[in-house]
Amino acid sequence: MSSITFLEFSEFCDELEKISSTIELSSKIANFLRNIESDDDIYNIALFLTGRIYPPWDEREVGIGVGLVYEALRLTTGLKKREIEEIVKETGDLGLASEKVLSRKLQTILFREELTIAYLREVFDAMSSLKGEKSQKKKVRMLMDLFSSASPIEAKYITRLLLGEMRLGVGEGILRDAIAKAFNLSADIVERAYMITNDFGKVAVTAKKEGEEGLKRLKIKPHIPIRMMLAQVAESVESAVMEMGRVAVEWKFDGTRVQIHYADGRITIYSRRLENVTKALPDVVEMVKKSVKSGVILDGEAIAIKDGKPLPFQNILRRFRRKHRISQAVEKIPITVQVFDILYCDNEIYSGETIDLPLHERRKILENVVKDDGNGLKLARQEITSDVRRVHEIFDEAIAAGHEGVMLKRPDSLYIPGKRGKNWLKIKEVMETLDLVVVAGEWGEGKRSHFISSFELACVAENGDLLPVGKVATGFTEDDLEELTELFKNEIEYEEGKKVVFKPKYVFEVAYQEIQKSPKYESGYALRFPRFVRLREDKDISEADTIERVGRLYESQFGMKGAR
Ligand code: ATP
Repeated sequence: MSSITFLEFSEFCDELEKISSTIELSSKIANFLRNIESDDDIYNIALFLTGRIYPPWDEREVGIGVGLVYEALRLTTGLKKREIEEIVKETGDLGLASEKVLSRKLQTILFREELTIAYLREVFDAMSSLKGEKSQKKKVRMLMDLFSSASPIEAKYITRLLLGEMRLGVGEGILRDAIAKAFNLSADIVERAYMITNDFGKVAVTAKKEGEEGLKRLKIKPHIPIRMMLAQVAESVESAVMEMGRVAVEWKFDGTRVQIHYADGRITIYSRRLENVTKALPDVVEMVKKSVKSGVILDGEAIAIKDGKPLPFQNILRRFRRKHRISQAVEKIPITVQVFDILYCDNEIYSGETIDLPLHERRKILENVVKDDGNGLKLARQEITSDVRRVHEIFDEAIAAGHEGVMLKRPDSLYIPGKRGKNWLKIKEVMETLDLVVVAGEWGEGKRSHFISSFELACVAENGDLLPVGKVATGFTEDDLEELTELFKNEIEYEEGKKVVFKPKYVFEVAYQEIQKSPKYESGYALRFPRFVRLREDKDISEADTIERVGRLYESQFGMKGAR
C-alpha cells in the first residue's frame, strides 16, 4: 500500500487553515481520513494534525527547537540568520518563514525526491534515536536534507510539525469528532478510547479496522497514562453538600498531580500533562516500592515539604524538569506523595480497571493496596460526611497546614478520565486566578537588562488562536526572572528592539485586581494590575484559560460589586 505524499497532506493542511467552523473542520478531516488506505498513514496523520509526532507520554522526542530550525534554514538557503529573522517578523511564524525562504531559494536541485508521510516518519524516528554530542549537528543535516527535498508548502508544515504547532485550530475535540464521523461511530466511544490510551493514532487505526467493538476493547494498560479526572469550582460548601448529600472530603493539597504505574516490576510516574517524569523522582520510586506490593495505577498529588509545610508549588516542577544532578535535588527538595485514588489493580482481591467502580469501593481497594506506615506513600485522609460544619473544619485544617482548601467528591461517582465534572468540586481560599499563555516578552532596563522582565499573556479563542489580554511585570523575584529568562531564551522566534516573540509553549498563572474591557489588546479585555503567581509547567497551552472564561470572570465582577 503506498503512502500518501507529504505534499498532499500539506495542501490539505492549507485548506484546513482557512476554515474556522469547527463542524466544517471535523467533516473535512473525516473525509480525508476515510480515504486513506494505509493504517500507518492514518496513525501518523491523526497525530500530525494536532502537532504531535509521538503521543505525549512517549519518551521519544525529535528534539528540534527554534534554534535548530534557523540553523537548517540558514544552511539550506545560504541566507544569514538576521535575514531569516526579518522574514519571521514579516510573516509571523517560523513555518510561514520556512515556506517563504524556500520559495526564494535558487532552484538548483534538479532531482527532488518525493516526500511521503512514511518517509517523514522514518526521518523523525531516526532523529529521535540520536543521542550524544554530535546529535545536534546530525539533526541539522537531516533537516537540511528534508528542506532540500521539500517544496515551500511542505517546508512550512515540516517546521510547524517539528515545533509542535500546526496552527490549524484542530484541537482534541475536533479530531475526536472527525474520527467518529469518518468511521460512523459515536463521539463518546472515541472520546473514552482516547482518554485511556492518549494516542489519537491508535484510536484512529482501531476505529477504522475494528469499529466500535474494537474501541471498547481498548483497556487501561499499566505504563500508559490515563487522562486525569479534574474538578469544578464549587459555589460554596453549603451548595455542594446540598447537591451531593453525603460528600467525601479530602484536603486539596498544594502540589502537582502525579499518576503512578506499578506493574511487571516496573514503576512509571506521569505528570498532569502525561509526561514521563520517573527519572526525576527516584525518591518517589523508592516510596512506591516500600508501600505497594501489587500491580496498580495510583492517582495522587506530589508535594514538596520542608519543616512540615508545603514549599511553593514551583519547587516540584523544578524537580520534574531536572535532568542532571538529580540526587542533589532529592535532598534539597524532598517530596511526599498523597495518594487519593486508584485506577487499576492487580492483586488477589481485585484484578483489572477500577475506574468504573464507585469512589467508595475504589477507596476500599486503595486502602488495602497502599500501606501508609509513614515512610513511603501517604494515603490522603478522607472523611465522608453530610455535616457542613465538619467540612468547614476540615477546610480550616487544610489551610492551617499550608494547603489550598478541600475537594468534595461524590462517594458513588465513577472515575471519568479527562472529565471536569460536578462529581469533584474544589473549594479554595484564594481568588480565581487566570492561566494564560506567554506569547512575548521584553528585556528589562538597568539592573534587569539581562533578564526578560515583562511578559505578554494571551487567552485561547475557540479556534485555538491566542488573544493577548495584557502584560505582567510584577510578582517576580530575581530568582524567578533568572530562571524564566533561561527557559524562554530557547523559545524566541524573533526579537524586535527590546521585544522578544516566543513560540507559545508556557503558561503563567496570574492574579489581577480587575478585568477591564479594552481595545488595546486583541482579546478586547485587559487585566488591571496583573501579578505573576507561578509558572504552570504542568499545563499545556491548550489547557490555558479561554476567552470565554475571561468574559465570564469579567461579568462576575459586576455581580460581586452589585453595579454594572
Ligand atoms: P488548580 O489550579 O485549582 O489546581 P487545575 O485546573 O490545575 O486547578 P483542577 O481540576 O481544577 O485542576 O483541580 C484539581 C487538582 O487539584 C488536581 O489536578 C490535583 O492536582 C489537585 N488536588 C489536590 N488535592 C487533591 C485531592 N485530594 N483530590 C483530587 N485532586 C487534588
